[in-house]
Amino acid sequence: MSFSLHRDPIVVRAPGRVNLLGEHTDYTGGLVLPMAIPFYTTARVSALNESQYVFRSAQFEGEYAEPVGGSATRYKAWHDYPVGVLRQLQERGVAPPSFLLELSGNVPLGAGLSSSASVEVASCLAMLALSGQALPANELALLCQRAENDFVGSPCGIMDQFVITAAHAGHALLISTRDLQFEHVPMNTGGLREISVVICNSHVKHSIAAGAYGERRKQLEVGQAVMRERFASLRDLGDATLEQLQACEASMSPESFKRCRHIITENARVRQAREAMLAGDAQALGKLMVAAHTSERDDFECSCEEIDFLVDTAIGLRGCFGARLTGGGFGGCTVNLVAREAVTEFCETLKDAYRTRFDVSAETYVCEAVDGALAEQERQA
Ligand code: ADP
Ligand code: MG
Repeated sequence: MSFSLHRDPIVVRAPGRVNLLGEHTDYTGGLVLPMAIPFYTTARVSALNESQYVFRSAQFEGEYAEPVGGSATRYKAWHDYPVGVLRQLQERGVAPPSFLLELSGNVPLGAGLSSSASVEVASCLAMLALSGQALPANELALLCQRAENDFVGSPCGIMDQFVITAAHAGHALLISTRDLQFEHVPMNTGGLREISVVICNSHVKHSIAAGAYGERRKQLEVGQAVMRERFASLRDLGDATLEQLQACEASMSPESFKRCRHIITENARVRQAREAMLAGDAQALGKLMVAAHTSERDDFECSCEEIDFLVDTAIGLRGCFGARLTGGGFGGCTVNLVAREAVTEFCETLKDAYRTRFDVSAETYVCEAVDGALAEQERQA
């Protein structure tokens, strides 16, 4: 269908992200340490003369259109993400004029690099710009998270939307997910200057992922409730210590205990990772990543055979300081810390080994930390 457009389109892009450390900690008030990566979703929004909102994507067939003021609920389709953002804007009293929103991008879909949050943030910024409005970083990220939680129906934490909005180039972003306090942690100190972040996409995703994620969230909530009852001053697992958890072991299921242990040790690892990064200690950072993987595999139980193979193989290769599963789990990507001079050999050897073992082609991406969507917008202004 064709529409009559007026005014020049507004074009906004938002990156994907990789999480260096702090997995599954962002829905119990914990710490995360992701960075934005140079894969982007672009949202191009043009004002329309017809009284409609129209959504298209270069990655998907067809289009979705609704009348301005429409209130359709989710369709379980790709357009739920931008439409969910529109609903959240409408709830805040932002009423964009009629538009055509066209998405395109190269963030791998469903690989744990957060194409979904990059769609939300790019769409949100584009719709705000068309409406002549702006939001501070934390409100924008929270609005996009609500779109994914309430409209799409995916119970994600705040990490993805926040880092994609607020990251700075050359830095990881340490986020306290309880209060959205944050710190840009430089990635070019001392020994870190000599290393690259290498993402390896396993190209597998196991179908148990969605159900297992919900189940683990419940197990964590139960464990957290038990701990709060015993220790009244605990706000959430972000405050909890291993000693406190051990004191509650008999009052929770073995699964809740292990999930909570992952969260508590993971928060401690993020704090140590910040120290390691500030000290430029790639070796210490790499060790923390390996310890994080062991905890994801054994305590959170969100890894799988293919990912364990990629991690075990990677840490045996020349120049590799550390490797772990990144993202929600049960497939997706690993993140590796690799000496710059060894990166080419590392990628080739890892992909060869994976192909030989599973007859599947993995992909590797060597990534520097890039600006989030807001810093990029400011730079272009
Ligand atoms: P991840 O965020 O790890 O990539 P998700 O399952 O959370 O995986 O999000 C992937 C979904 O986000 C896609 O299936 C699609 O619905 C939506 N999406 C991502 N990128 C685009 C895009 N360029 N155009 C339209 N929808 C997209
Ligand atoms: Mg996602």
